[in-house]
Parts: sequence; C-alpha cells; structure tokens
Amino acid sequence: MRLLLVEDNPRLAGLIRDGLRGQGFAVDGCTGLADAEAALQVNSYDLLLLDLGLPDGDGLALLRAIRRRRDTTPILVITARGGLDDRVSGLDAGADDYLVKPFQIPELAARCRALLRRPGAALGTVLIGGNVALDTAAREVLVAGCTVETPPREVDLLEHLLRRAGHVVAKASLENALYAMDAEVTPNALEAVVSRLRKRLAATAANVTIRTVHGVGYALFTPADGDHA
Ligand code: CA
Repeated sequence: MRLLLVEDNPRLAGLIRDGLRGQGFAVDGCTGLADAEAALQVNSYDLLLLDLGLPDGDGLALLRAIRRRRDTTPILVITARGGLDDRVSGLDAGADDYLVKPFQIPELAARCRALLRRPGAALGTVLIGGNVALDTAAREVLVAGCTVETPPREVDLLEHLLRRAGHVVAKASLENALYAMDAEVTPNALEAVVSRLRKRLAATAANVTIRTVHGVGYALFTPADGDHA
C-alpha cells in the first residue's frame, strides 16, 4: 500500500515515515501543497495523510480540490487543530478520518489500515453491505443477488453510504457528492433522496438500515454492525 504524507514538520514527518514503513507501508513525503499536487499528478496513492497547517497554505484547500475532481482516495487528516469546528470542517471537506496531534504511531497505523479495508478503497468495484451489493462501474444495485432498479441519484447516495458503512457521513459531504457544484440544492433534496432509497430497500429483502443522525448526516448499518443497527 502506497501512502502520501503531507507534513511540513521534519521531525514529525520522519517519525511517521519510519513508523509506517516499519509496519509495511510505502510512504512518500511532501512538505507543502504544491509538491503534494505535483506528487498526486505523477503517482497514484492508496491513502493520503494530510497536515492542515502547511507553509504554502491550508491542507483543507488540497482536500477540497481532490474531492472536486471526484477522486475518492481515502484521506486522513493529521493536525494539531482539535476543535470541534475544525473537525467538522475537515470531515465536511471530504476527509475520511481525523487524527489530532500528538498521537502514537500504532494508532495512526491502525487508522490507516481501517481506511484501506473500506469497501472500494483501492479494491474492486463491487461494494457489499449485508445482502446489498453495488457494482460501481455498472451502477447496478443488487439485493440478495437480484437487480433492483434504482435511479442514478439513489445509486450515488447508496455508494457513498456503503463506502463508509457503520460511520456517519456528513450531510454536506453527501450533498457535494450528489449534486454538481452549480446545481440548486433545496434544503430537503437530500432528505427526499434518502427517503426514496429507504423505501426502495425496504420493499426488497435488504438487511441494511439507513439511520438519520440529526444535525449531522446519515449512516448505513449492516447486520455485521450489530448493536448499532
Ligand atoms: Ca504543519
């Protein structure tokens, strides 16, 4: 697995690089936004570790740029900013996870492995949650092996929820994923798509549940998530 580390503090960057290499990851290092963009142009990475306070700008700008081009590479934000607002804006901008400095290398490595295990991350094109499968290339939804006719917007929604099954996906990040930059999005548009997808799944034998987390977003649970479902 190849990782790109964007961190300007040389001591911390060295520690992370050595620590993760010791755990079997290949790690490329960058110290700012410009060289990170350059590295992303040439190489393909399975995971991005991104500091926010960088000498040539804010890591969130890079995060947004990556998500704007529909690049779904998992991104783990590592930063000293630990305030709730910072966390929320990092997650809204499309980060998959957030680790506040200081942290221990084993925890960082565990988070990286968790992100890389996620369905779709650097793996095949079929996402599976419970008895629901989504072929991301054919845009086809199957429940217990049978095709379920599903409109494109609901397929997009299901894809994003399946990719983060068991985790809450922020409303803003779903809206970003579902609607073009210039689209007029009414306040309940997303809610309506969620409700249609729920009904569609309920009409089949689907064993996944889409939960509303009020004021935050939505989460899809499978039987494997146990207590939460
Ligand atoms: Ca920094």
